[in-house]
Amino acid sequence: MADTELLSGGKYVESAAKVRGRARLNPLFVLFLYLGCLATGSTGASAAAPGRDAADVVLRNAKIYTVDAVRSWADSLAIRGDRIVFVGSNSEAARFIGGNTKVIDLGGRFVLPGFHDRHVHPVTGGVELSQCDLNSSQDSAEVFSRLRACAARLGDRPWLLGGGWDLPLFPGGVADRRELDVIVADRPAALYSADGHSVWVNSKALALAGIDSATTDPVGGRIERDRDGAPIGTLREAAADLIDPFLPESSPAELLAGLRLAVERAHAFGIVALTEASAGPETIAAYDALDHRGELGLRVVASQHLGPEDGAAAIPGLVALRAAAHAPHVRATAVKLFADGVIEGGTASLLEPYVGRPGSGIANWSADQLREAIAALDRERFQIHVHAIGDRAIRDTLDGLAAARKANGARDARPLLAHIQLFHPGDIPRFRELGVVADFQPLWAWFDPYIRDLTEPFLGPERSRWLYPIRTMAATGAILAAGSDWSVSSMNPLAAIEVAITRCDPGLTSCDRPWIPEERVDLATMLAAYTIGGAYAGFEEKESGSLEAGKLADLIVLDRDLFAIPPGEISAARVLVTMFEGRIVFGDWSALQKEAAGEGK
Ligand SMILES: [Zn+2]
Repeated sequence: MADTELLSGGKYVESAAKVRGRARLNPLFVLFLYLGCLATGSTGASAAAPGRDAADVVLRNAKIYTVDAVRSWADSLAIRGDRIVFVGSNSEAARFIGGNTKVIDLGGRFVLPGFHDRHVHPVTGGVELSQCDLNSSQDSAEVFSRLRACAARLGDRPWLLGGGWDLPLFPGGVADRRELDVIVADRPAALYSADGHSVWVNSKALALAGIDSATTDPVGGRIERDRDGAPIGTLREAAADLIDPFLPESSPAELLAGLRLAVERAHAFGIVALTEASAGPETIAAYDALDHRGELGLRVVASQHLGPEDGAAAIPGLVALRAAAHAPHVRATAVKLFADGVIEGGTASLLEPYVGRPGSGIANWSADQLREAIAALDRERFQIHVHAIGDRAIRDTLDGLAAARKANGARDARPLLAHIQLFHPGDIPRFRELGVVADFQPLWAWFDPYIRDLTEPFLGPERSRWLYPIRTMAATGAILAAGSDWSVSSMNPLAAIEVAITRCDPGLTSCDRPWIPEERVDLATMLAAYTIGGAYAGFEEKESGSLEAGKLADLIVLDRDLFAIPPGEISAARVLVTMFEGRIVFGDWSALQKEAAGEGK
């Protein structure tokens, strides 16, 4: 409780003094500086006359954790148009209240900057929701019963498609075609694992794609086989791509509908900006279309996918697509590379061999290829976004980034390494040194069946210590961001924040056996990762990520003060209102005020 008092008491006093000091200096001058450097063309603050100060919305009586440079607190905030024009005390906010100002008394509710999810798959995840959704099934029996329901409900479609099954629900993470044949015999079926790195297919799908005992494993992929060499029904990585030419393509309307579902979910979780982790022209077109209709309500960095098979010849196409994406909130300025696969599938690329499994995983790119691709993309000034899970994949990527910097010169490049599960400890300080953003998926950092059954046994205890070293990374001074990787796992940032703090199942309210407790971090660190760190990762920290005068009004109201509750309750907190650029995209003020009044305290 002492920490809570310090943060809600001590720092608040400091912040109020700062705000008052600035006010005496001349707030309009400060505002001009902000607006000038942001080049927004915003009007309003043109004179000191009291009437001209009026804001559109003033939030009062709130507990506002601003995530500014000194992590100050405030109790009031004023918004004009899409911008915050004031953050400070209730008494000072009074001068922003004019005849047309909507004044919201938040009754002590907790306010944060909106969240930034820096690795997520909204379009494919949203489309998956409209197909057969197997996410969060508790056991294989639930997977089968959901599949039976889907087969009946989606009986008119030429393929049964969907995904979200968890590898640990099947022995060795291998799902069997025969079990699927029992449910779907009349047409091909393809169901992606929750992590997206494996696909479970039935016999019809295998036959259609011509995959049998004679088919050799493609480079970078594996066909799981029985003793006789016959495909069992699980295809990993590049082997999963073998069925791609036979899959029906999603129409633009289906992609748009999927994106809508995903955006709705993102807003409910307080997300205002995101990095789409794997975009092609159709995906980017869906974002553009939704934004042109004024319905996106998020700022998006789309990471265009580049595979080793594409090579340098594909880069001009990426440059052209970047230029073509022109909706106001959509930038296709990043390129995503998969350095490796996943540990649980035995495809993450490791420095030393797996324990009890042949080989060291699959490096999708040779170290040379990866270095060349990174250097070429860096020359085109793309933000490099790499899926890197194993310690070799992380090292190869860092080596590639270092070489690119040497060849092309240092620039404000902000490369993003996502997932970053298993480290050689010597590579951790290199993030800070090379200006690499550490983009963890903190929700994965607890002793769940993936770790218990499919990760630690294949790494051994010594290496396992260096899974998700979030605290060690933070201590180096590297910029932390975070992402959900939805639909791989829940999109809820609060659940991920809780796990980073507890290293325990986010469903537990009290945790007595944290996993690798040395790597637990504090709430302030995680809130920064999801706000200002995420904004930095999206090149928008001057516009968003903290609540300060001059920035965009991207904020959320929560039902409880996260600093005042035990960490095990963070995932149970709810977002009540999400505001994106001054516009409410989730919840509404009136319901919130009723709720505050109804509770009576
Ligand atoms: Zn991903």
